[in-house]
Amino acid sequence: MRPEILFPLFAPVGALAGVGPQNARLITRLAGPNAVDLLWRLPSGVIDRRFRPKLAELTGANDGNTVTLTLKVWGHEPSPGKRIPYRVRCTDGSGGEITLVFFHARPDYLLRVLPEGQIRIVSGKLETYRDNLQITHPDYILSEAECATLPEIEPVYPMTAGLSAKTLARAIRGALSRAPKLPEWQDGPWLRKNNWPGWHESLLAAHRPAASADLDGAHPARMRLAYDELLANQLALMLTRRTMRRQSGRRITGDGRLRDKLIASLPFRLTPSQIVALAEISGDMASPGRMLRLLQGDVGSGKTIVALLGMLIAVENGGQAAIMAPTEILARQHYAVIAKLCDAIGVKTALLTGRDKGKAREALLTGFADGSIPVIAGTHALFQEDVAFHDLQMAVIDEQHRFGVHQRLLLSEKGVRAVDTLVMSATPIPRTLTLTVYGDMDVSKLPEKPPGRTPVDTRVLPLARMEEVISGLRRAMEGGAQAFWICPLVEESELIDAAAAQERYAHLREIFGGRVGLVHGRMKAAEKDRAMEDFVNHRTSILVATTVIEVGVDVPNASIMIIEHAQRFGLAQLHQLRGRVGRGPRHSTCMLLYQAPLGEMARARLRVLRETDDGFRIAEEDLRLRGAGEVLGVKQSGIPEFRLADLTIHGALLDAARDDARMIADQNPELKGERGEALRILLYLFERDAAVKYARAG
Ligand code: ADP
Ligand code: MG
Repeated sequence: MRPEILFPLFAPVGALAGVGPQNARLITRLAGPNAVDLLWRLPSGVIDRRFRPKLAELTGANDGNTVTLTLKVWGHEPSPGKRIPYRVRCTDGSGGEITLVFFHARPDYLLRVLPEGQIRIVSGKLETYRDNLQITHPDYILSEAECATLPEIEPVYPMTAGLSAKTLARAIRGALSRAPKLPEWQDGPWLRKNNWPGWHESLLAAHRPAASADLDGAHPARMRLAYDELLANQLALMLTRRTMRRQSGRRITGDGRLRDKLIASLPFRLTPSQIVALAEISGDMASPGRMLRLLQGDVGSGKTIVALLGMLIAVENGGQAAIMAPTEILARQHYAVIAKLCDAIGVKTALLTGRDKGKAREALLTGFADGSIPVIAGTHALFQEDVAFHDLQMAVIDEQHRFGVHQRLLLSEKGVRAVDTLVMSATPIPRTLTLTVYGDMDVSKLPEKPPGRTPVDTRVLPLARMEEVISGLRRAMEGGAQAFWICPLVEESELIDAAAAQERYAHLREIFGGRVGLVHGRMKAAEKDRAMEDFVNHRTSILVATTVIEVGVDVPNASIMIIEHAQRFGLAQLHQLRGRVGRGPRHSTCMLLYQAPLGEMARARLRVLRETDDGFRIAEEDLRLRGAGEVLGVKQSGIPEFRLADLTIHGALLDAARDDARMIADQNPELKGERGEALRILLYLFERDAAVKYARAG
């Protein structure tokens, strides 16, 4: 239960003074539904209104400055026509003159606020127009009596369409006034060492910058707030993870007989990093705690074989092991690889997907339940209610690039509860992000590329050069090459993406006839399979696809990757797509087609891809160029969106937050005592409610 002290902050934004239903909707869209969400919206600029010159002192050099003037209203010049503004001429007795300019003015209003002959305090941005001073739509027009209400220094907030700056600022002030003083959750010496103020003080300071230097992410108030957010993130992960670990007390060891056989049957030798990863996995499994390990490696780095060897430990131990993939196509592909290897060593395997129905499904379930099928591949279908295992000892979750799946599975799905779990990720996300998604989950890495990989020649071309691309494609096809043609991710809508792919497909069909295939997320499973099979068996030479369909497919003969509107993809995603070629002996090419004109940032990003093939470096660069939220095509990435912490600035704090969180989880896992209570408040403040329930004795 959320502590009462936070109730005022978890009121809906509509409850704030001066926020009507219409604005509440806009604010909710911009910031979030509750007052607390407004606190996290820090100013992006400041306006200093303390410059109060005389008109006679002003020159063209002051153009663009914010000025606050004490003016005498001299005369109104109503607008003679629609396009010509209403003007109000003013003086200040210094010999200078200024014009206040209003477009689409309401004369009665202007006559009321700027009565002729009266003194008014006017603040706004100074312009010079044909050597005359003017202010267009002043920010403030106050009488002398109201003068004290003029803010000397004003925060400027990032805006949203439809919401006025004043309304947003007022709502944020309202939210700030609801912020209670909260007990300190940070470690005292740590705060002092960093010279960080308390939470409430930091919050007010961050929202009341006195100068633009205060907007710097390295400002103590901002650092403190960022650290709070990171600590909440890390503590939540740490507590959750600790609970997961405690769920099991099994030692799973095997005699190595199946692993030895499998290794002997491989046409290659394991790389040193594969051997290390495997040793780490078997160490985890043999220990009484629950394995929670992330196996990270670029596409094609050989994770599957490592995972399978790990699964065989469970089988040697008399149990079962399952590997789950995020999509049907990937599950099938895993199954094909695994079944072939397992057949060779006499281990039974099966595949279960959402497509298996009726009798066939029942037969599979029987085999799972009686233990006669020890190695199982599948999709989410593996974790449906009625699927029971005889003795599931190990689970592999292949996330590819879809993060966050593991959180759900590890915690809630009964099938994998308390089972040694290996998460495989093909996205080389930067280390900082790994921490925010996985906490300090143990990590094994496969940094080398397997032998036989050929470098991919990467080119960046405007879409306007489509003709050339197509004639190049024709030549390559005559030489027996195959190509993927990836269509743009227009929106987070499969329907629209499918339409774009359909259109390109039709276009290429006109040119290449039956040599072109198509796969997208809206097709029936059987159609997708057929299209994939046609491509794998070289009945088609070009496969037009959206990224919604799995890119994990392995077609060694495919040597050309064409990506339309490449600028719209995340770098990591482009890198993954590119990894689909260069798997065979052919010289491979990746063409990144962009829609001109290409912005500076987009150009820099695509350049990174041309310069390196190191997935981890690409991921770091992407983080540097775009910031965390954008790196992986956000929405379904599962990466937490930080609102106060900017990992490009506060990345170093993350390590400290992790250590801090680990210490808390070790020393005070139940969050008891004064600091424990305060930490609970921290977790609730950042809406990590779910983690609080793990903070109890178990
Ligand atoms: P990932 O799952 O990491 O994308 P895979 O396990 O699918 O990569 O491996 C890609 C290819 O490399 C497969 O054909 C696999 O058989 C092969 N492979 C794996 N390990 C090695 C190795 N040590 N030496 C040579 N080839 C390997
Ligand atoms: Mg694989």
